[in-house]
Amino acid sequence: MNDPDDWRLEAPPTWSHYAVLAMTTYKQPSAAWDHDHCTFCYQKIAEPHIPNALPRAWLFAPTNEWVCPSCFDDLATHFNWNRPTPAGR
Ligand SMILES: [Zn+2]
Repeated sequence: MNDPDDWRLEAPPTWSHYAVLAMTTYKQPSAAWDHDHCTFCYQKIAEPHIPNALPRAWLFAPTNEWVCPSCFDDLATHFNWNRPTPAGR
């Protein structure tokens, strides 16, 4: 993905560059807060019982922000995203 007109690149959060994102199963933080959205495309991310949502996505833990798998695939190279380094590497 190297489209300079990609609308997702217009106002990325400040953490975007060189962020470490971990594929994470969504767990709702409280009874009243049952979903989040992809930071870039607003895809809903929630537990499996929530309709039209993804149960797993990439989590940027320091700010609890989520990136859906397709945005991760499209934008990881642009932002130099990394997966957590496995132990022993
Ligand atoms: Zn997305």
